[in-house]
Amino acid sequence: MAVITEAAIRELAAIKGEHAPITSCYLDVDGRRLARHQDLQHEVEVVLKGVRARANGEVSVQSDLRRIEQLVRSGLDRSRVRGLAIFACSADRLWEVIELPVPVPTRVVINHVPAVGQLESVLREHVPIGVLLADRQRARMFVFELGELVERSETFDAVPRDAGARGERDRGGDHPQMIEAHTQQHLRNAARVAFEVWTQYKFEHLAIAAPDNLAGQLEAALHPYLRKRLCGRLAVPVTAGHGEVLAAAEQVEAAVERSREARVVERLRTATTAGRRGRAGLAAVVEALGDHRVDTMIVSKGFTAPGWRCRGCDTLAAMGRRCGRCGGEMVEVDDLVEDVVEEALAQSCQVEICVGNADLDVMGRIGALLRY
Ligand SMILES: [Zn+2]
Repeated sequence: MAVITEAAIRELAAIKGEHAPITSCYLDVDGRRLARHQDLQHEVEVVLKGVRARANGEVSVQSDLRRIEQLVRSGLDRSRVRGLAIFACSADRLWEVIELPVPVPTRVVINHVPAVGQLESVLREHVPIGVLLADRQRARMFVFELGELVERSETFDAVPRDAGARGERDRGGDHPQMIEAHTQQHLRNAARVAFEVWTQYKFEHLAIAAPDNLAGQLEAALHPYLRKRLCGRLAVPVTAGHGEVLAAAEQVEAAVERSREARVVERLRTATTAGRRGRAGLAAVVEALGDHRVDTMIVSKGFTAPGWRCRGCDTLAAMGRRCGRCGGEMVEVDDLVEDVVEEALAQSCQVEICVGNADLDVMGRIGALLRY
């Protein structure tokens, strides 16, 4: 099984189906959502049945779908795996399964190239976050990445303490000024450890947890590289258990992701109002997608709307029933938004799913930044 990295994604993206289309299949196998294996298996079978009907008897694709069904039926170890990305092309002997420690929306795209957009989203939405816990005596350092929290406190042993301050303490100072000097030195040491861990794990953001009267001093002691990565304070004690730190890290990650989404929506708003590089609303986005002009598609999570698909040329449209491209007859689809997202992924557009962004909802719950 392959691990998700940017290099692995680039390698996949370079593949082309020589003898048949490639099946890209993303599965949400999160055990917290579907605990029973038979429920998961049933859900996947329903999804694949729908795809099979659309695959028009393409032999290689039918064989890909069978193999995916077998993979799920044979049982999955879901203790650490919450999502799967499968890229298959039986005719070209392509079969690649990537296990993801975070869930992905279930979706199947069939195209002459692999649809790697959702893999890119996973890396974009789960950048590493450092978590530094400290009080007056103790400090602990963690790195949270792709749903996993790992303690890196062993670095404390490798980083030498400030010898001068230790000398003062050894001379027997429990004088308030001595205690304060000791605290300062302890926080400087914690900050130095955070920097050491950063040089190794290159976390994008840093969250700190310290009592209110220390947090400011700790932040001030941080290397400037780290200070500009500060993304919030956590209310967990330095003695917190793994589960408690994990839950706090997950909350920080969600907040970081919401603010990144807000910046994307702001770009959309500017592009839509200022000029020609943005489209808002389902009808406008579908049209831009039909013209292959979409660079980034931005969709509100949970948005669904009925629409139309051409029987002849597969063109999507918000309004039917005559196809604007070929003049053919269109059929109604229950959820045009899902088809639009699949088409965007097939066109290698970046797709941003935004959670609870009121500004996006005002713009019609979907928008697009255009290539030109
Ligand atoms: Zn048509």
